[in-house]
Amino acid sequence: MKIGFIGLGRMGYSLACSLLRNKQPVVAFDINTEVTQKIQSQGAVVAGTIADLCQKVDVVLTMLPGPKEVMQVVTMKGGILDSLPAGSIFLDLSTVDVKTVDKLSALSSAKGIVFGDAPVGRLAAHADRGESLFMLGIEQKMRSTVESLLYKMGTTVIYCGEAGAGVRTKLINNLMVLSYCQINSEALVLAKALGLDIERLFQVLTSTTAVNGQLKEKWPEKVLAGDLTPGFNLSLGLKDLTLACQSAKDKNITLAVGEVARESMSQAAESGYSDKDTSSLTDFWATKNGIGFIRL
Ligand code: NAD
Repeated sequence: MKIGFIGLGRMGYSLACSLLRNKQPVVAFDINTEVTQKIQSQGAVVAGTIADLCQKVDVVLTMLPGPKEVMQVVTMKGGILDSLPAGSIFLDLSTVDVKTVDKLSALSSAKGIVFGDAPVGRLAAHADRGESLFMLGIEQKMRSTVESLLYKMGTTVIYCGEAGAGVRTKLINNLMVLSYCQINSEALVLAKALGLDIERLFQVLTSTTAVNGQLKEKWPEKVLAGDLTPGFNLSLGLKDLTLACQSAKDKNITLAVGEVARESMSQAAESGYSDKDTSSLTDFWATKNGIGFIRL
């Protein structure tokens, strides 16, 4: 299968590199020429337009910031719907919302394009190593074809159900992940205020049921090491929490912690943390509480 990859940012670049490492040819497109030059140097062919890309491939993967960008590349003149032949596969890897994924599915089917959603779990560092997890939503009969493609970019594929089930699962996953960012931040700030030794505290927290993946795998590499380069940038985290909170509102479900974490992340974004890693929420929370930065 020939693969077209649209969106070669922090995640898309790493995933496309995994495809190339596994001898899978890639045709790439991004509006940012810096990243297309980077992926070209790894062996990808760069397409000048989305229409050009769609004519050269059997499968299109999109890894874009959010709903607005995905809808744009799909519905614009010369976009995916206009240009991808019927019978091709369109797989969106981005984190979008429920309404968007359902619309993408309906629009694609109307054109005879097979649509699936496979948002990505785990950290950007896992994507760099080809160790991502995919939450796959697609019709059963396409499952094994798409799974074998995803295994060229990651180590785990979990079949979540029909198209749209991947995004629904991802929103729940990120509601938890991003709520942990807030919980980790306030716990560490209180610990520092109580005069605790952070290294010893960290040992305890990662050896009891207080542990969470963000604290154990991300915090020591990122904010606690003073490295705030994204990883997963805070504005994307805020986007995901907002999408999760909106999906709860649409179903009349109350999210107590999720809403608070969303508000905290929104304040951090407004205070200049937007382009920093999500773990920088700890620095924001420390500053808000008049406590110095916490480092291991
Ligand atoms: P990013 O901002 O680094 O990359 C997005 C890329 O899309 C950029 O290169 C940008 O130029 C490109 N782009 C934007 N609009 C475009 C358009 N109209 N046409 C073509 N290209 C366009 O973001 P990222 O961190 O790679 O995240 C991408 C998606 O993956 C998001 O939905 C995010 O929520 C999700 N995600 C991120 C992580 C992570 O750790 N970074 C982990 C899992 C999932």
